[in-house]
Amino acid sequence: MAIFTPSEQVLAAQILKLKQEAGSHSPSIFTFKQKLPQLDIKVDACFLSNPYATELFLEYFNHEIVETGKIRDLLEWYPSQNAVIAEILADFLKLKPEHIFIGNGAIEIIQAIVHNFTEKKILINIPTFSSYYEYAKEGVEVVYNQLLKEHDYAIDIEGYISRVKEEQPDTIVLINPNNPNGAYLTTDELRHIVTELHFVKNIIIDESFIHFAYEDKAFRLISTGNWVEEFPNLIVLKSMSKDFGIAGVRAGYGIMQKEKVSTLLKTGYLWNSNGLAEYFFRLYTRADFAYNYEKVRVKYILETMEFIADLKTIPNIRVYPSKANFVLVEIIGGRSSAEIVSLLLIKYGIYVRTCEDKIGLQGDYIRLASRSKAENDYILQSFRDVFQ
Ligand SMILES: *Cc1c(COP(=O)(O)O)cnc(C)c1O
Repeated sequence: MAIFTPSEQVLAAQILKLKQEAGSHSPSIFTFKQKLPQLDIKVDACFLSNPYATELFLEYFNHEIVETGKIRDLLEWYPSQNAVIAEILADFLKLKPEHIFIGNGAIEIIQAIVHNFTEKKILINIPTFSSYYEYAKEGVEVVYNQLLKEHDYAIDIEGYISRVKEEQPDTIVLINPNNPNGAYLTTDELRHIVTELHFVKNIIIDESFIHFAYEDKAFRLISTGNWVEEFPNLIVLKSMSKDFGIAGVRAGYGIMQKEKVSTLLKTGYLWNSNGLAEYFFRLYTRADFAYNYEKVRVKYILETMEFIADLKTIPNIRVYPSKANFVLVEIIGGRSSAEIVSLLLIKYGIYVRTCEDKIGLQGDYIRLASRSKAENDYILQSFRDVFQ
């Protein structure tokens, strides 16, 4: 790494160490600010959220909670219980409340599902979001279905169906769009898969990035959440962290068979939401918020499409097809992803995610999030500088 000064080399080594300590997730901006205050981070392109949605939430929050002094109630009082918040969501989602389980972030639901309902064997497509295999209990067999680089790490539908039929797992996971590559299964393709795989006890569809995907020119919202009555083995998970830009709030929900919800509630999770999350969930179901959210959602999708198109013109990188708010970028030409990650961070103040810890990727990759228009422009300019 001849491009670094000696002090920058020290910094690069410290960054690497922080990443190693963080395991399969990335060190947060807080960690960097605390441990390496000399780093000047300008853009966090590691975390995958819609920044305009965060601003919208903050506007409501300031106006309705902070300025009115209601913040005291949020802190002083108990929030509603799980089943009460499920009731709030039910009408909005056009579901029966008994089908809804509220989580302290989707990650808690992944843990709850995998711990309680996966008994023998889970089949996971890789590359993927690591929690699905990390939470598998001792004694549960984890089988990986390698997504192929030749297919841009997208699912080969018929191949996948035969693999599941052959392996007979009790749990399968479909993240749509997938993390870390953004590959997308259409609603029709998913229906075909779910129909063919009716014998699998638990089919998890993780829709944490679904608000960024689209199938028509109107960018209509997509969800398989209301398939649960038709397909009782379906478990649809939704994190609010990414598309509403509120990871700090810890809010997510799962839609599943009533019996599954009551099994989970019997083992705990009574007060697993906090006051802030309850405020968010109530806001989420309000027509005025939904109207304003829709505007920032579509604006962000359009800007992301433009960002991805521009990235594709940069040499020495390969941008994989994505319908999420991020792209998997392969570094071609011999430089390692670790080198690129520290170069971007130290020289340009851009934080991107290394994919070295992701199993199932062949080559050197980073995952890059779309941010605000101004930040995206800065990323593009820096990438041209680094890769040209
Ligand atoms: C981020 C993420 C989650 C977890 O989100 P929470 O912040 O816990 O709500 C779940 N699944 C996928 C695929 C994710 O990327």
